[in-house]
Amino acid sequence: MIPASFDYHRPASLDEALKLLKKHGDDAKVLSGGMSLLPMLKLRLASFSHLVDIGRIPGLDAIKEEKGVVRIGAMARQAALERSEVVRAKLPILADALPLIADPLVRNRGTIGGNVANGDPGNDQPAIMIALGATFVARGSKERSIAAGEFYQGLYQTALAPGEILTEIRIPVPPAKSGGAYVKLKRKTGDFAVAASAVQLTLGKNGAIDRCVIALTNAGQTPVEAKEAGKFLAGKAPDEPTLREAAQIAAKASSPSADRRGSVEYKKEMARVLTGRALKIAVERAQRG
Ligand code: FAD
Repeated sequence: MIPASFDYHRPASLDEALKLLKKHGDDAKVLSGGMSLLPMLKLRLASFSHLVDIGRIPGLDAIKEEKGVVRIGAMARQAALERSEVVRAKLPILADALPLIADPLVRNRGTIGGNVANGDPGNDQPAIMIALGATFVARGSKERSIAAGEFYQGLYQTALAPGEILTEIRIPVPPAKSGGAYVKLKRKTGDFAVAASAVQLTLGKNGAIDRCVIALTNAGQTPVEAKEAGKFLAGKAPDEPTLREAAQIAAKASSPSADRRGSVEYKKEMARVLTGRALKIAVERAQRG
């Protein structure tokens, strides 16, 4: 289908983009890679009279490590992240996910900012950002920071205020003896997750789990942090029965809907199985780290 007509704006600076958003209010929408927004417009699930393309604004696509923080510009494309040495070396959990997002064509266009700002619980990067304890930086009339864990409020609803643009994602580099993993089940290339689990943990001096965050993709209206499972693991040795029980607790936090990808029971079971696998990989990585 052809989208309803709209005016296309290509501002050259962030200030210009913010002005356009302010001027056109609810009639305007930010466009980054267009890989989620354009299909929605084409299917006429949404329509906006003004699209503000932030793709030509300089300085929004950096991927760098600075003072113990990985800073990723909102316009960093998924393909660039996939090639990034910083991501591979510092954030294996994100490196796990990138080749599993959509297909190479979509990853060449899609951005991390669009992926996390979209508010679709099927997007992979939100759960990973929650597991990593990321902070999202937004610019409106002023700059503010929002914790990834507090960003998702409902289906396609985020903490971004109207007229705000997500500019950067800041991720603290995990300390020594940390490990993360993202394990995803999808039916075929180009499909979203049936279920997926993001695990990021740190081991203490005695080898026990100091801290663990587990977050699930496509497990509800928003990415779901399995907080009880994280609490259960704190202070425990990462042995097989403990990890198995934690995966069971994590699956209880999920409340998926039945669709063509499977029944509620199947998806909950997959959340359990995938969390069990992600925990095992994360522990192995932490023990090596
Ligand atoms: P856009 O489509 O441009 O924008 C998405 C939304 O975010 C819009 O509402 C837009 O206004 C808002 N937005 C974008 N950038 C900003 C910003 N900087 N500040 C404020 N708001 C902003 N994703 C997955 O995670 N996993 C998958 O398996 C997967 N499979 C896919 C399969 C196909 C066939 C397709 C077409 C897409 C798939 N996607 C998948 C989605 C893809 O990763 C998108 O690229 C991503 O979700 C959105 O990024 P974008 O840059 O294209 O954003």
